[in-house]
Amino acid sequence: METLLEKQSPSALQTLPGDDIRQVMWRFAEKYELHMLVQSARGVARGPVARLVAAGARNSHDWTPDKASLLPAFDDSGITAAFLEPEYGGYLAGPKNFALALIAFELSWVDAGAATCSLAGNLGLAPIHERGTPEQRAKYIAGAAPAKAGENRKQIRAAFALTEPLPFAGVETGMLAGKVRVADWNNGDEPLLQVEKRGRFITNMGFANVVTAAVDSDDKRIKGSCMVILEEGDPGSWDRGTPTKKLVHQLSSTNDPAFNLRVPASRIVGGYSIKDGVIVPRYSHSEIIETVFRRTRVTVGLMTSAKLLSAIEPVILYQRRRFRGGEGAPGTPRYELGLQQKEDVLHRLVDIWATGEASASLGFAAARLFDELDPLEKQKDLWLAEKKLTGRAALKELSKKQAEALELVQQDSNPVGSRDLKRAEELAADPLVQFVLSDSVANVLCPACKLWNTGHGANMMREAVSLMGGYGVTEDCPGFLGQKWMDAQLEATYEGPEAVQRLQLSITMTTELFLAQFKQWIAEMKRIASDRPGTGACTLGTAMQLWLWTLNHVQNAADADGAKLYHKARQGVTFPLADALCWLLAARQFILDVVELEGKGAENPSLADGLGGTVAFFTDLCHVQTARAAGEVSRIAAETVFGYNRHPAWDESSCHACYQAEELESLEGIIPGIDGSARAYSDVSETGEGHPCKAGPCVKFAGLETFMRLRAKLDGCLTGCRLAKDRAAEALTKVMTREALDYPA
Ligand SMILES: Cc1cc2nc3c(=O)[nH]c(=O)nc-3n(C[C@H](O)[C@H](O)[C@H](O)COP(=O)(O)OP(=O)(O)OC[C@H]3O[C@@H](n4cnc5c(N)ncnc54)[C@H](O)[C@@H]3O)c2cc1C
Repeated sequence: METLLEKQSPSALQTLPGDDIRQVMWRFAEKYELHMLVQSARGVARGPVARLVAAGARNSHDWTPDKASLLPAFDDSGITAAFLEPEYGGYLAGPKNFALALIAFELSWVDAGAATCSLAGNLGLAPIHERGTPEQRAKYIAGAAPAKAGENRKQIRAAFALTEPLPFAGVETGMLAGKVRVADWNNGDEPLLQVEKRGRFITNMGFANVVTAAVDSDDKRIKGSCMVILEEGDPGSWDRGTPTKKLVHQLSSTNDPAFNLRVPASRIVGGYSIKDGVIVPRYSHSEIIETVFRRTRVTVGLMTSAKLLSAIEPVILYQRRRFRGGEGAPGTPRYELGLQQKEDVLHRLVDIWATGEASASLGFAAARLFDELDPLEKQKDLWLAEKKLTGRAALKELSKKQAEALELVQQDSNPVGSRDLKRAEELAADPLVQFVLSDSVANVLCPACKLWNTGHGANMMREAVSLMGGYGVTEDCPGFLGQKWMDAQLEATYEGPEAVQRLQLSITMTTELFLAQFKQWIAEMKRIASDRPGTGACTLGTAMQLWLWTLNHVQNAADADGAKLYHKARQGVTFPLADALCWLLAARQFILDVVELEGKGAENPSLADGLGGTVAFFTDLCHVQTARAAGEVSRIAAETVFGYNRHPAWDESSCHACYQAEELESLEGIIPGIDGSARAYSDVSETGEGHPCKAGPCVKFAGLETFMRLRAKLDGCLTGCRLAKDRAAEALTKVMTREALDYPA
């Protein structure tokens, strides 16, 4: 008998997406060294890491010899050295954000604690990598390279210590209890510093021998805060502290250490100068943290994406075998499909998959952007240094570049015939203009992917766990889904929890330069929609318009008591709008990646076979995801726009009539296919005149016609999204999988 799999049409999804597909979507098809890196990291993840998890190594808080065996596995596979510059023992030249993101993705496919163990070493070194002096880099970055055969030295393993015991530094990174004082300073000699720092939840602390610690001055001879490098063996007390009793990421080591050490002032990260007898660190701790986290947070976002995508195969395998019972025979729906005969389990898995794709697309796009930004940022630093510009003067100069960048965006947005091509070319050739353009987007993409991938990702991991029934909450669950669900919550927390990302977005998403580019993206979605309506690009473009309209509105509006709506302290307004933006950005990037796959995939003969089916399936997933994003944006926008008006006392004659009339009006002339003779919202004047509720409508229409129109249009844009979900669900019943996962359970 023909099996269900054999009934597949060539235009249907044939297999789960393999490396060839990912390389095209995530734009590293030409980077062979990264293909090798993926294979190496995967070997470690699905080998030693998976074996440790399966053997129950996560069941202890301590840093055990078993867990420690991962360190040489990272070293031998090239994972450790991937962070290092070639001159310091690495093998990848140039920026490495994308390479590190791939490593994190591969390791987290099996266990994100292992990924954290590897990445926390990079985080510990990152202050030195980003802001260290050449001497500091040469010593500590080179020292982190795995020792070569015959080389007799202790390899540096680093940790990063910012967070402190309650009630000190956490989300509020400025509230430092850690202190630095001058211990000894003889005339002309290098000052000796006394550093006191207690850490809380410090990763790698079970074995690290170097710590970069954030401290504040407790001495009038030292200005402000800084980061200092501490070494095991420095005179004083190096107490690793007790292991944290964490419920997550148990393959990494986390402790609450306490240090009281004497170190030379040359350990201040980035160096210092002496002004009027005061040590002035070149960088404050917050300047260093900012530049470090804006890169490493992207990687964390991708950890949760990997979990979601890793859940697809185990869930399909489980579903197909469940409820076969003893009587079904191969070829029968019960035998072949099991639980997949039920629509809901398929639809939920489609949602998980779509989220995983969108979050991976967003995370990898952010990582690529930082690779582009790194050299531009160096050029910017050099340019400012040559002009001897710092502080406000530097900002002033950069704001000129921002004006030029805006001009470039404007030129590019003009209709083809009316562009000043010469001027546009001149502006585009300026690396500083390119820097401010990319920087304004990176400042949004980084917090967006940390926030959405991990926060919404954790919610969706719960969905994945629920699809495995009771199995989901056992240690035996294939794919370790229960552990991954819990782990996702840590990813949403460390390196700044969701509130920190929302705070940052509430500022960066309102910059003129970002918004100018965002407007271009709306046009881009509308263009894609005309060729590929099935992606939901039109829906997304409209949802983006609605978000933009709402942002503009709240920036100028007040609540019922006259208080400003868009304000730093009003997180009830700023935070949901930040969340809404993330939904849009993730769905947009997923669409762009699918368009890329369709275009570039066709050039790759090895993809020829299944490409059509994969693109068709991904197109449906895009539609599902854009519909969900549109719903979120619509809900948040409506709550924000209307929710700060006070409802008048309920009155049958006004409110009720108003609502009834609205029912008729709201659909007319707005949603395709619905006819009627009543007025559309466009007929209602700015003051609400013309609306049936003349006494002053309970819902204030004044000035909101565009909003109402956009919302109604958005509803209409959802046409077909459930059909797309049905098709994607059907594909899940037919796609070929392996018989078992390629790592142990
Ligand atoms: C396993 C693990 C490993 C870690 N590794 C490291 C490490 O290696 N190095 C290191 O330095 N730290 C590390 N951390 C610490 C981690 O980065 C912090 O826990 C995290 O940044 C949050 O700080 P907190 O726990 O002090 O939360 P808090 O600062 O107490 O915040 C708690 C909650 O309050 C709310 N909140 C706080 N402030 C605001 C605000 N301004 N606006 C709105 N809401 C707000 C948010 O909901 C927030 O989640 C680790 C933590 C864990 C659990």
